Parts: sequence; C-alpha cells; structure tokens
Amino acid sequence: MQINGKAVEACSGKFFDVINPATGELIDRVPRGTGDDAAIAVEAASLASGSWASTSPQQRARVFYRAVEIVRQRLNALAVLLTQEQGKPLIEAKNEIEGFANVLEYYCGLASSPQGDFIQVPQNGYAISVKKPLGVCAAIIPWNMPALIMSWKIGPALISGNTLVLKPASNTPLTNLTLASILSEAGLPAGVLNVVTGPGELVGEALVKEHKVRKVSFTGECATGKRVAQLAVSGKKGVTLELGGSDPMLVCDDADLERAVSGALRGRFYNCGQTCTAVKRIYVFESIAEEFIKKLEDSVRKLRVGNGMGENIDMGPLNNRRQWEYVKELVAEIEEKDEGRIITGGKVPADSACCRGYFFEPTLIVDVPRESRLLKEEVFGPVLPVVRVKDLDEAIEEANNTIYGLGASIWTKNIDRAVSGCEQLKAGIIWINQHLKVAPEVPFGGVKESGIGRENGPYALSEYLDIKTIMLKI
Ligand code: NAP
Repeated sequence: MQINGKAVEACSGKFFDVINPATGELIDRVPRGTGDDAAIAVEAASLASGSWASTSPQQRARVFYRAVEIVRQRLNALAVLLTQEQGKPLIEAKNEIEGFANVLEYYCGLASSPQGDFIQVPQNGYAISVKKPLGVCAAIIPWNMPALIMSWKIGPALISGNTLVLKPASNTPLTNLTLASILSEAGLPAGVLNVVTGPGELVGEALVKEHKVRKVSFTGECATGKRVAQLAVSGKKGVTLELGGSDPMLVCDDADLERAVSGALRGRFYNCGQTCTAVKRIYVFESIAEEFIKKLEDSVRKLRVGNGMGENIDMGPLNNRRQWEYVKELVAEIEEKDEGRIITGGKVPADSACCRGYFFEPTLIVDVPRESRLLKEEVFGPVLPVVRVKDLDEAIEEANNTIYGLGASIWTKNIDRAVSGCEQLKAGIIWINQHLKVAPEVPFGGVKESGIGRENGPYALSEYLDIKTIMLKI
C-alpha cells in the first residue's frame, strides 16, 4: 500500500497473497487494506490537492516524462512482474508496459491544452469559461490489463491537476504498486497518487462513498459497475464506467480471409481472451464459412499454451480460479446441451507443465445456436463461438442483439458494407478490417451496458475537469 507516496505496512496488520496463475506459487503479499485505510489515503490526496493543482502543466509533464524514462529503462523487470501476477506471455506484458509509458507521454503533450472558452453573450457582454481540476479522484481497476488501465486513469487525472487514490485488483496489485513508486521516484509529490490494496467491497466501496472524492473512474464487470454508479450518484460525484463487452466480428464474403483469421486469432486469444474488447462472437457469411472456419481451426491448433515466462508462448493461463471455473463450466454446459460443435480445444491441457495453473485450451466452437450463453454473456476466456449468417443485415441484427456495446468489427473490402456496419452497429468503437487496436489518441468506451464516458484522447481530460463560467457585463 502506498499513501502519501510512501510504502505503508498494513494498517490492520493483515496481508493477502498474490499468486502466480501459471504455477500456483506465492509471488508476494500485500496489505489487506480496509475502509479506514481508504479514508487515510483520501485525506492524503486532499492535503496534496491544492499544491498539485497550482503546479504548472509543464511541471506536471516533467514528472511524467521522468517516469516514462524510468519505466522504459525497467521495461523487462516490470514485464516479468506483470507476467508473474497476471499470467500473460512476456511479450504481451512488455507491450502493456510500453503502452503505460506511451499513454503518460501522450498526456504530457496535452498538459497545457485545457484552456477554456470565450463566449460572446448577446446584449449582456461576454463570458469566459475556465477549466479547473476536480480535486480528489478515485480509480478502481481490474486485473486483465492492470498497467494499461492504470495509465488511462492516472494520465488524464494527474496531468490536469487532480490527486488520486487508486484501488488495484486484488489479483494484480504488484505492477500497480511498482509503477506508483516509479512516479514517486520521478518527483511526483507525496499524496498526489496513493494506492490502497484490499478487497473491492471494503476499499473500493469506501473510496466511492468518501465525501471528498469528487470523481470515480471504474473499470470492471457490469454488476460491480452498477453498484459503483449507484454509490457515486447518491454521493453526487462524477463517474466513468468502463465495463464488460461481447464484441462481435462480422466477416463478409469479400473479406481478406487470411487477414480476418489472424484478426480473429489475436482478437480472441490475446491475453487468454481476457480483454474487454476481445472478439467474443464471430458472424461469418455462409458462403465462405467452411473455408474461414478451416483456416481459423488450423491457426488455433497451432497456438502454444504455457507459462507466460516460457519461450514462444502464445497464450498463458487464465488469471484466477473464478475465471477458470467459469470457462470450464460454460464449455461443459455447451457440450452437455449439445449447443454447437467444439472443433478444437474445450479442455484443460493435459500437459504436466500446465497442471498447477489456470490453463484452458484455445477453443473454437461452431454452429452455436442464437440463444446460447456463449453469445449472450461476456465470455472472458479463450473460447470463440462462430455463427453462420446469410448476409450483412442478419449479421448486424445478431451483433446488436446483446446488452453490451463496447466494440465491434466488420471485415470487408466493400466501402458500402463498411459504412453500413459503422452506422448500424451499436458500439462505442468500430474497427474495419482490424479488431482490438487501441491508442492513447483515440477515445475509448462503450454504449448500452458497456459503460458511461470515454477514456483516452483529449476528451478524457474533460472527465477530470470542472468548467467554471465567469460572466462580465459591459
Ligand atoms: P470486477 O470484479 O468488477 O473488479 C474490478 C475492480 O473493482 C477490482 O479492483 C475489484 O476489487 C473492485 N471491486 C469489486 N467489488 C467492488 C465494489 N463492491 N465496490 C467497488 N469496487 C469493487 O472486474 P474484474 O473481474 O476485475 O475485471 C474483469 C471485467 O472488467 C470484465 O467484465 C471486463 O470486460 C471489464 N473490463 C472493461 C474494460 C473497459 O475498458 N470497458 C477494460 C478492462 C476490463 P477486487 O479485485 O479486490 O475484487
């Protein structure tokens, strides 16, 4: 736990274990914080708030630049830590740590941008609007991409002059704690960024309820997000929710099939399928379905599963037992009810190196009926259902037939089809002939039950700023 920029032993004297999902081994122990610890951290953030808000944007950017340098110097060690606690292959962990650095660097460039507006008021003079930091913010993050999602929150919040208390996921607190220490080492003043580890129901809820917290940015499951939103609204504070998704991938009969197959492979199995914008359902035109499925099957069979620290590993374990049990139970139910044909995968790997971790084979299931749980729920794991459709209208109708609206992709060479997909698909982000790509410059977030608000891009700054209007009479 870090409060006021300093490592703090557990206030309550209790700790919890952080386990390597590939081996079941203990990696480290971190303080099991409580609501009282959350309150102490909020107080520290509140005390630091005035002086951080009055630093110049250039000073804030300098701290970020130094942190980015240190993160890049320590890229390998940070990636190893991330792989150990999260499970993803080392190459993906490196990408994520680089992503953290890139996001902070991007916000350095925006540090001076929130300048406000001048407004001419008819018959009454003029007005100016200035943008002010909100004060103390809270960020609650999940375990699937802990470093990247941390940057999406601390980047815009801190660069625009707010202070923040971060609650990491209990499965992956170590990379977050290390990155926060690096910011401190880079010169971030005490109290500007505080990290409280501990159970979401205790620490997370306490943070959302804290009177001095003016904004909560939450990433996680829809059900948790609803609880967080209710508490935030009753405390009259701002809230950004980045929640679950069940992204569809629409493959038209004129698509470049090689490209679509590699997009599906990466889109579904990257991070062991535990990405909010992973490809979670494929709708492929009947006329090319056989060829597409065969190519996809061949590629899925080649994926190498194992400990993310190993060489040439394409897919690591699931991050935790809960997720692993969910995937096993779901696939068993599909088999039991005969809901689709598993053409590869579907089991825990027999390989002895995988016996102590939360591994599951990359799984491809075809001819899945429309009412299957596989198409209705957010499947956060390496299971890919494929459904045949007759045309684009049917694909779009099925794609939209869900409570989620995070991402979607359409694969075609036909501009009319691409435009039609972009117009009709109900999602916060739509890709054409790609899936999963995100960038610090590009707004990210969902519609429907997938969330409220946007992260990344200049727009994210407005989520952490108040507008103060000043009217002058002439
Ligand atoms: P989760 O169970 O909702 O947990 C997310 C965070 O909330 C964790 O830090 C958790 O703490 C905390 N938490 C739990 N209960 C809480 C409560 N009552 N009040 C406040 N905080 C609470 O989600 P997850 O399983 O970690 O993450 C997977 C989900 O995140 C998936 O649904 C995925 O789609 C979504 N996600 C969305 C995006 C996006 O940008 N849209 C990005 C990534 C992931 P503990 O760990 O201590 O329980």
